[in-house]
Amino acid sequence: MKKFALENSLEDWQGYISNIGEAKYRATQIAEWIWKKHVTSADEMTNLSKDLRERLKADFYFSYPEILLTQKSKDGTKKFLLKLSDAETIEMVLMKHGDRLTLCLSTQVGCPLGCTFCATGTSGFARNLTAGEIAAQFLLAEKITSRDLSNVVYMGMGEPFLNTDAVLKSIRLLNHEKLRGFGIRHFTISTSGIIKGIEALRDASLPVRLAVSLHAADSELRSFLMPVNETNPLPELRKALVDYQSKTNDRISFEYALFGEVNDTVERARELVHFLRGIHSFVNLIPYNATGGRYKTASPEAVLRFKTILETAGFETEIRSSMGQDIDAACGQLRRKIAEGAVEKDSYTKTDAIIHASMLHDAANIERYERKAKLLEKKIVAKATKKTTSGGFIDKFRRKKSNDTEKNSQNCFSNLKVKKQKLGFKRTKG
Ligand code: SAH
Ligand code: SF4
Repeated sequence: MKKFALENSLEDWQGYISNIGEAKYRATQIAEWIWKKHVTSADEMTNLSKDLRERLKADFYFSYPEILLTQKSKDGTKKFLLKLSDAETIEMVLMKHGDRLTLCLSTQVGCPLGCTFCATGTSGFARNLTAGEIAAQFLLAEKITSRDLSNVVYMGMGEPFLNTDAVLKSIRLLNHEKLRGFGIRHFTISTSGIIKGIEALRDASLPVRLAVSLHAADSELRSFLMPVNETNPLPELRKALVDYQSKTNDRISFEYALFGEVNDTVERARELVHFLRGIHSFVNLIPYNATGGRYKTASPEAVLRFKTILETAGFETEIRSSMGQDIDAACGQLRRKIAEGAVEKDSYTKTDAIIHASMLHDAANIERYERKAKLLEKKIVAKATKKTTSGGFIDKFRRKKSNDTEKNSQNCFSNLKVKKQKLGFKRTKG
């Protein structure tokens, strides 16, 4: 079976070249064609002998993922749906900030972690990407724009630290000076808080930037938003981050998407301040990019209030505009919309059949997810009911709860309101 050429490191090429009895410098030539000149076939490698080119063609394939669909936003953001060699699909997003070009790339086909606000997380998981498939998104982006990227963020579909080996390998490939030579400080890995991955990065001697998607500093709320919190709980995550920082000395970014009336209150901001104390942090506040109903965008007042509380406590904070809102640029949104048949047929660049076929398993996953979400909602309401059994505040709470329970079958948002009241009550008591 042919191997994908982007999986090879320089050492792999040197081994291959020596095995087939070619001169050593051929390895560097091949690597340059692939990584610096972005060629996608051996035929283009004009300084190699015809025999070597034929041999390469027999042993490797060089083509990048195929672009199935492109969406362009008014703000210049471009989103691509890509087809991999086994017909699975992923997304990548290109963002322009002035002269800078940032690529947001995917590390998995889908994501198994099921964050309740994320289109990727709610549309299932198929497989990990290989290092070559991750790096290919980078080279493809440079090829189609005819420009060098300025930054790359591992923030598209998937959880990088559930695919740590391939992610770190892709960074080593792209960073290697004889390959692409892309500056190590221009990489950012975003994680939902997988402690093992943070530890692996700490020990990897790869000084990339680390971003953590936090979204809540209260354990119960975070577990609801991000079930991964159950197995990677906040206190242990915090410990891993402090440890990471003491070794790397590097500032850590925190992503905090603001969901209206869920995690945007004064109390939530104070919890965040408490969590971040002692960590050299940069907080990105992201007004939530609604993916369809479950949560709503925080009001501008709430966003500003949240920012002010963090800044007053001494944390550098930025409100990050959601790029490409008109083209569903939050990760997984495009892929899911196609699965739901909600993208206009006319905007397809390839046949509907290919896209729909590759999406079919997602439709089943959405249903599975919905069932899971309902169970979780029930659990949270049950907990809230159990804990609030005494005190003068309770009657009001109960009235509110029974109203909310009416809506619970459709809307988990009301559950969070119940829970918020419950937590407020706990706090005033003690
Ligand atoms: N799995 C990794 C990286 C991919 S998700 C992680 O969770 O960090 C990239 C970022 O997009 C995360 O911060 C995630 O929380 C955020 N995100 C996902 N869906 C979003 C949405 N609809 N609106 C705003 N941010 C979203
Ligand atoms: Fe996965 Fe990140 Fe989406 Fe959560 S936010 S489901 S970890 S991609």
